[in-house]
Amino acid sequence: MLKAAIFDVDNTLYDYDAAHAPAYRALSAFACEKLSLTQEAFDELHAAASRMLEAHSGGHCAAIHNRLIRYQLMLESLGQPIALAPAMAELYWGTLLRQMRACPGARESLARIKALGLTVGIGTNMTADWQFSKLERLGLLPYIDFMVSSEEAGAEKPDRRLFDLCVKKAGCDAGECAFIGDSLKGDVLGARNAGLRPVWLCQGSKADTAPSGVLCVQSLDTLPELLASL
Ligand SMILES: [Mg+2]
Repeated sequence: MLKAAIFDVDNTLYDYDAAHAPAYRALSAFACEKLSLTQEAFDELHAAASRMLEAHSGGHCAAIHNRLIRYQLMLESLGQPIALAPAMAELYWGTLLRQMRACPGARESLARIKALGLTVGIGTNMTADWQFSKLERLGLLPYIDFMVSSEEAGAEKPDRRLFDLCVKKAGCDAGECAFIGDSLKGDVLGARNAGLRPVWLCQGSKADTAPSGVLCVQSLDTLPELLASL
């Protein structure tokens, strides 16, 4: 019988792609004006800074998600004062938090899963601070019993160390934990490799490509029913 339901955050509990787009636009408009850059130059610089951050940090840790460091690297590459980096990070994150919308049925689904008596956890590739801010802003934090960020685990999904820490915090066997996420490689195959029961949140015909034995849901609305049947 299932004892815990553990969730990815981005593109699982809220639509990251829809919130990232205006946040990136606001950031690039600000930076292009302050630094006299074209949009193209900004995009290239942003991508180069991401690659540089991966190279500096080793690439398999939560530091790769740190936008403040990314913007600091952009400014350093331009020979510009890094004093602008905090304002750039604040603009990006402020816009993203304002634009975020919970996925349909997220709150109701978490409430129903709690009512089933399951422990609810988070397993996420990101630094803890912004994931707390997002969950709080979405009104989902009160439903969460524990959090494992890749910052805490020292490893990024699909590395099983992050899943092992989730299971330890859930206080049950891996086979008694469902892991729900949108990424086939990071969430679904990572969870399966660590012995958890993966549920792939996938829309449309993507479900047809699910590996055998992997459960799929099209939206969070139908998740409590599925988990109750496991
Ligand atoms: Mg995700």
